[in-house]
This record gives sequence, structure tokens and C-alpha cells, in this order.
Amino acid sequence: MRYAVLSDVHGNLEALEIVLADVRRGRPDVCLCLGDTVGYGPDPNECAERIRGLAGPVIAGNHDLAAIGALDISVFTPLARTAIEWTIGVVSEDTRRWLVTLPDRLVIDDFLAVHGSPRDPFEEYILDLPTSLAIFSEHAFSLCLVGHSHVPGTFILEADGTVSARALPVGESVPLARSSRYIVNVGSVGQPRDGDPRASYLLLDTETRTVTLRRLPYPIAATQAKMTARGLPIQLAQRLALGR
Ligand code: ZN
Repeated sequence: MRYAVLSDVHGNLEALEIVLADVRRGRPDVCLCLGDTVGYGPDPNECAERIRGLAGPVIAGNHDLAAIGALDISVFTPLARTAIEWTIGVVSEDTRRWLVTLPDRLVIDDFLAVHGSPRDPFEEYILDLPTSLAIFSEHAFSLCLVGHSHVPGTFILEADGTVSARALPVGESVPLARSSRYIVNVGSVGQPRDGDPRASYLLLDTETRTVTLRRLPYPIAATQAKMTARGLPIQLAQRLALGR
């Protein structure tokens, strides 16, 4: 099976449209979404509608839960809180009814899909080797797909117990060894934070056992103008251009 794996759209319709056009050209069998479809960005309902329209598996992210009042937003940074309060005010009944149905994890084929981490789907960021090693030892997956940190890349546990972190080269098909275990972060469609402002998503081919990171430029200024018009914090608009 060939999967397109999207995460952290965050209400950024311009980025999502560009990604979906690229997905359509690649004709994957399944489009999977790892959560945070809403929050931060100016078009939460439109993005939710597009993701629902893909008719693929979708899991919940922390912002999705916060937008429907199912997660305590006092843990959010002040800027994230301002944006989620705005989002709570504009989320439609349709979007709300859909968000409430999303699971916190899924096992598909032989891989695990979760927003943040298998041991804490909504809070934990996997950013360093000790955290990844703890997760590898507590959970028995060969491949775990995550989002949440908005930083694409992979953690690898080899058969001899060595753990390493590697960036994913853009547009290159990377083989996943059968003898190793992987945590792969697909990056963020709508708010990348690895210094590259281009929208990020991942292609996974479970037959050839390869992953390919895709990065796509999108009209950032259009999203920023909408954010300004909607009264969302200026810093959140600015960070899109920086990819931080
Ligand atoms: Zn996110």
C-alpha cells in the first residue's frame, strides 16, 4: 500500500491545497492524517472539510481536542492559547461533530500512527534520543508515524540497540531496514518548525518499505493576510515565513 501521511495542517488552507494537489498527482492508495487539523491558522473549518473529504484514517491532535473543549488549554503557550480561543469561537457544529469522533491512535497494516507519542499522544514531543529510546522500549512497533513537533525526521533503533536520529532528505526514497525499528515524524503541512517554511508531508510505501519526504512552497503571504484580517497574533503569521 502507498500512503500519503499528512499532519499538523493547523487551519492553513493555502498549504493544504498545495499538498493535496501534490498528493493527487502521486495517487496514493490511502491518505492518512495524524491530527492538529485545526488551531493556529485562519481556516479551521475549511481544512477539516478537506481532510474529511479524503475519506482516509484521521487521528486527533492536541489542538483538535482543545478546539472542542476536550483538553485543558492552560498548558498551551500564550500565543497558542490566543489562537485556540479564536478557533473555539469559529469551529462549526459540523467540524465539532467530526473532531469528537477522532481516535487517539491507530494501527494500520503493521505500523502505528499517533499524533505526539505512543505513551502520551497529546503532550509528549519526541525530540531527542533518550525520549525515543524510552518509547522504543515501552512500545512494540516496527514503525511509528508521528507529527506534533512539526519537525520532520526519523529516530532509528538498530538490532544491536544503537539509537540514532536522522534527517529525511527531501524527495529521496529512504529504505526502512527490516532489522531496525523506526519513529518517523512527517513534519507539518501548515506550520513547519525546522527552519524550512515549505509545507511538509510523507509518502510511505509498505511494499517497498520506503519513505519519501515531500516539501512544497505555498503562498505564505495569502495565509498571513488572512491571519491579520481575522485578528490572529502577528507572531503566528510571521513564523510561517521563517518555518519556526
Ligand atoms: Zn501541531
